[in-house]
Amino acid sequence: MLIRLENIRKSYKLGNNEVPVLRGIDLDIDSGEYVAIMGPSGSGKSTLMNIIGCLDRPTSGNYYLNGNNVATLDRKALAQIRNREIGFVFQQFNLMARSDALENVMLPALYAGTPSKERKVRATELLERVGLGAQIQQRPNQLSGGQQQRVAIARALMNRPSILLADEPTGALDTRTGEEVLALFEELNAEGITVLVITHDQEVGNRARRLVRLRDGLLETETSQVMSAQ
Ligand code: ADP
Ligand code: ADP
Repeated sequence: MLIRLENIRKSYKLGNNEVPVLRGIDLDIDSGEYVAIMGPSGSGKSTLMNIIGCLDRPTSGNYYLNGNNVATLDRKALAQIRNREIGFVFQQFNLMARSDALENVMLPALYAGTPSKERKVRATELLERVGLGAQIQQRPNQLSGGQQQRVAIARALMNRPSILLADEPTGALDTRTGEEVLALFEELNAEGITVLVITHDQEVGNRARRLVRLRDGLLETETSQVMSAQ
């Protein structure tokens, strides 16, 4: 099992009160899956994504990532796991404006200490893989939104993460460009990459091979739609 969440709870302090946001999440994700987590605004999607992405820790519960319980790690250990295991894709791309596509994609490998020649070879291959072989020297403002998101996807894959974690990856794109990004996720998943998309967009959720819903801090059981249809 790549990801196992056991009774994950998260609450935030609000004055003297603890406000529960996640109220006991259980979720297993196997290597090679393509999962969407959907839920209305305020349902706790970002909170859950931050925990799965090792950006934040749960208040209680266990989180096994590749078999290691990361729920209790300190911030530094969490950051190390995060850099190795998680590739992030954000709504707003978050590219370095002054760097070209190649430099943006190489950056995570710089932090990881990969030798410079290897960085360049792999980043070039990844940019070719996402259809941007001719744009490697373009800066973000010379690229369309969809192209920028594909640079961000290549960057996310640079350190060979266990999982590609995308938060509203099409939220800043028009329908057609968003479609290209979703098609790319499907291709990458078919090549074996594990994809987890967090979205409030039903169209995006429908494209995943498994869809789980977050409501009021709990995951709805995945069989409920089937059962209610019987
Ligand atoms: P979503 O991503 O589904 O919109 P969030 O995880 O951002 O949901 O937020 C869920 C709830 O938790 C909201 O009520 C939000 O205001 C609250 N919340 C999120 N982060 C914090 C925080 N750092 N401190 C206090 N409350 C928070
Ligand atoms: P989204 O719904 O798109 O995730 P939000 O505006 O809810 O965006 O949250 C943006 C950031 O602010 C998140 O990192 C979230 O954890 C934090 N946040 C949300 N609500 C609160 C809050 N009430 N207090 C403090 N931080 C919050």
